[in-house]
Amino acid sequence: MRRLNVRPAQIDECIQKSMFAFSFKPQNPELQPGELLLLQLVKTEAVRLGKLHSRIDFALVFDHIEPDHDGAISRLHWPKENRVWPWIVYGSATVPTIPFSLEDLGLSVDYDGQTNPRYIEPRDEQLIRPYIQWTLAEVPEPALQLVSASEVVQTFGQKRTLAAIYNHDRIAVLHKVPKRMVTIEQFTRNQFLADNLKSYYGNRCQVCGKDFLPDYGVAFSEAHHIQYLAQGGLDVSGNIAVLCPNHHRIIHSTNAQFNRKTLTYEYPNGLREQLLHPDHFVNAPPFLALG
Ligand SMILES: [Zn+2]
Repeated sequence: MRRLNVRPAQIDECIQKSMFAFSFKPQNPELQPGELLLLQLVKTEAVRLGKLHSRIDFALVFDHIEPDHDGAISRLHWPKENRVWPWIVYGSATVPTIPFSLEDLGLSVDYDGQTNPRYIEPRDEQLIRPYIQWTLAEVPEPALQLVSASEVVQTFGQKRTLAAIYNHDRIAVLHKVPKRMVTIEQFTRNQFLADNLKSYYGNRCQVCGKDFLPDYGVAFSEAHHIQYLAQGGLDVSGNIAVLCPNHHRIIHSTNAQFNRKTLTYEYPNGLREQLLHPDHFVNAPPFLALG
């Protein structure tokens, strides 16, 4: 594992293309395929953005490194940087993290400074790993250590879980990859994204607040895609509502429309139901403006 210093102006391209640029080729040890590269906001920018305690939101999965002989790749991908790098790193995926900063983890070494990339000691890597949200990534976790959605909420709290969901969404929005069709009618979707969101609301219906746990002894809710995946809807939190089965079915059968401005479901007979729990729509970052 390494940490990379990155500036906000560069990061979208890093997330979207899973790419990064180096001034030198890392040696001793060399980068290994599958190794995680933490994208850390440079400190001055983190201070400016109020992200001193959440400098890391994403990690790249290293795949290979290639020289940029004439600087053409650097200029193509980071045109505003006015410089070129001799080495370009290609990742196989971008993985969202729970927002965190290395300085807050009580690690054995100070990883601050300008060195890019900075090697992270294996003993410290163990402390960092829980923040990597493989379940929210579009790639399978290498060493299977599946954590349930409710464990994520218990460990990191509601606020940071939602921030990690938004990190997933930022990758999905930037990638804009249409979901692959697996059968005629079914589209692949990230079950963990839906589960994380359901856990965020404690499995309460966002419309009516219905909670099955007290009466039935089980937490039960459903994830509804506002714009259907089959119609090009994105599998991101901004396109998902957590609903009780009643509201899920009635919204489908009446084709009720979701009004994002008023956070209200509008039924054809004129009934309006405003969301009782609208959190993840209200707090959504600008890149999730889905219109
Ligand atoms: Zn409901």
